[in-house]
Amino acid sequence: MITFLSGGTGTPKLLRGMLELLEEQEIAVIVNTAEDIWLSGNHLSPDIDTVMYLFAGILDTDRWWGIRDDTYITHDHLADLGIEEFITMGDRDRAVNIARGEMLRSGMRLTEATRAICERLGIQATVLPMTDSEVTTYVRTSQGEIHFQEYWVKHRGALPIEGVVRRTQEPPVATPEVIEAIDASDAVVIGPSNPVTSISPILECAGIREALRQHRCVIAVSPFIGDAPISGPAAALMQASGREPSSAGTYSLYEDFVDVFIQDTRDPVEIDGALRLDTLMVYRGKSLDLAKSIMTLIYGY
Ligand code: GDP
Repeated sequence: MITFLSGGTGTPKLLRGMLELLEEQEIAVIVNTAEDIWLSGNHLSPDIDTVMYLFAGILDTDRWWGIRDDTYITHDHLADLGIEEFITMGDRDRAVNIARGEMLRSGMRLTEATRAICERLGIQATVLPMTDSEVTTYVRTSQGEIHFQEYWVKHRGALPIEGVVRRTQEPPVATPEVIEAIDASDAVVIGPSNPVTSISPILECAGIREALRQHRCVIAVSPFIGDAPISGPAAALMQASGREPSSAGTYSLYEDFVDVFIQDTRDPVEIDGALRLDTLMVYRGKSLDLAKSIMTLIYGY
């Protein structure tokens, strides 16, 4: 089994390739939940949904979120009624968020709710929230502290970021399922997800860093080429967190546990011992190529 640490774009692109090489049951994904938000009484877990929809074969891979060919009847009608949701939620996507909200309200752990939804969607991979407690990433801006989703979706990432803050009611702890998955895996792969908003929240869950340090094969892929990420706000977030916005800054977050660090062949930043591969997964075949190289690293074929 291989366990992945994932946000909602970079690692899912790698998973798309891995799915062509591995049985779904051979894949576990530990997913960031620090972007979760309650909206209109429903529970959104954007990264979990992207990963689930990928496995279910229904992900809109043009946007890397939401369900392909979804409709927006409820969203539009809510707007007619004066409820302007800042996230454009499709109808089928909303059904998942309603179901998860109901399950959480009835006392299920997020891990259990995710498992139940995965079963219903016919998913055989193991999709694991990083923790069962609530963790939320906020960014500090001139308009005050705002939820990361609000910063990215409502303000389209246009506000300067002064800092990144994680809010929790209790210190987050990795679930037993997460630690078991890491321990049972031949390798742990951190895909090229945002180091600040996707991977750091996972690493901050008590027990994860220790489990990774003890693991003999942890591979990480950089989401940067030079001082720019392939997409998204990672550069501003790295700077606001006091890290260099580059592969070097990314490596500095992972160096105590990573065994193989992968940088893109075009990246001008030099990191001792890093492996160079084409990491630009612009289409399915490119995801597959990178996945094959990583499989060769792990299993030698
Ligand atoms: P989010 O939850 O939507 O922010 O998604 P992730 O955190 O999983 O991924 C965002 C990161 O993916 C960004 O920092 C991008 O630089 C990176 N990324 C997206 N596509 C690619 C790609 O094809 N190759 C690499 N190396 N990184 C990518």
